[in-house]
Amino acid sequence: MTTVVCKFGGTSVADVERINAVAETLMKHRADGEDVVVVVSAMGKSTDALVEMAAEINPKGSARESDVLLSTGEQITIALLSMALEQRGQPARSYTGAQIPIVTDSRHGSARIKDINPDKMRADLDAGRVVVAAGFQGVDEQGNITTLGRGGSDTTAVALAAALKADECRIYTDVDGVYTADPRIVPDARRLDRITVEEMLEFASLGAKVLMTRSVEFAGRYQIPIRVLSSFEPGPGTLITFEEDDTVEQPSVSGITHDLDDAKITIRAVPDKTGIAHAIFGAVSDADFNVDMIVQNIGDDGMTDLTFTVRRAEMEATLALLEPIISELGAASISGDEHIAKISAVGVGMRSHTGIAATMFEALSAENINIQMISTSEIKISVVVEDKYAELAVRALHRAFRLDEA
Ligand code: ASP
Ligand code: MG
Repeated sequence: MTTVVCKFGGTSVADVERINAVAETLMKHRADGEDVVVVVSAMGKSTDALVEMAAEINPKGSARESDVLLSTGEQITIALLSMALEQRGQPARSYTGAQIPIVTDSRHGSARIKDINPDKMRADLDAGRVVVAAGFQGVDEQGNITTLGRGGSDTTAVALAAALKADECRIYTDVDGVYTADPRIVPDARRLDRITVEEMLEFASLGAKVLMTRSVEFAGRYQIPIRVLSSFEPGPGTLITFEEDDTVEQPSVSGITHDLDDAKITIRAVPDKTGIAHAIFGAVSDADFNVDMIVQNIGDDGMTDLTFTVRRAEMEATLALLEPIISELGAASISGDEHIAKISAVGVGMRSHTGIAATMFEALSAENINIQMISTSEIKISVVVEDKYAELAVRALHRAFRLDEA
């Protein structure tokens, strides 16, 4: 018997009609003889509505209470979907995270899964029932409700698939797969039939919002094949695989991503001595702020400039944290810039092709786009440009790497 875990996000369960449509999709999987566990998000944008209400009542409300509140959205969906299945003659049972149980650490709002006991789910599947699980939530060892971070239902789905040793994890969403670029920006972007987990990790962390990064890490670690599919129209979607496809020649670049959630911090004229990077980035990391690209230059007179990117939402806090440290180090100034975009070209084919960076820089220069920062890894090249050029840059690179030609 094939076991599949299917996940439906907020838009896919936005109202009663959509929930009925999900039930119909699951009935087809049952008719195909599959054992089905389904993970659902809260309906539509209801989690946002809960966040807003909480902020109105108490902007400094505790993370514990926030999790008690936010986890309620998914509880509504699991009950309604189970009812929709039973209405169709399909026995089903809904479970909150705590009921499964999905045991996490106690970091409210960004909890990590420690353990999942699959026994109850397996018993339901063996009895012919569909298991309907609430995404995004768990329970810590003291019995407190926790949540995994916004978008966390993807991670729940992959984690349940790993615990059940499922054959496939299907992520149903509002797009029909992973594209060579955001189709809202590049009209001739193509759906990829397959993408490697390594590439998907880069896509997810570089701004393609199809899957939560942590869910892709999980899939890689436990070798769970994920398929991204549309919940609105039939189609094969995109399969995230573990092997590079060597039956066809790898293109050098598989896709272009853009990320508008970063900001840039520049520290000018820091005395270039041992320990400055540690003093600065140690403090940033102790405060749990995320640093991405870092550029340090050799300057004149024993002084150096340092530029790095942080999440845009954390820029002000990072500046405030660093100001006293910077003056103690004797640096000239520190400043922030929110108007940046990070554009990346990603592809496992970069390992076997040369000249990718040159093609990228040429395409950007032909559009008169100034590059502010560059960083590379084995399978990606990222540049930072002024944010108003983000769409132009994505389109130029999509064309330069011939991603519109299948
Ligand atoms: N409902 C949660 C959110 O909006 C979890 C999810 O949708 O994955 O972030
Ligand atoms: Mg989502």
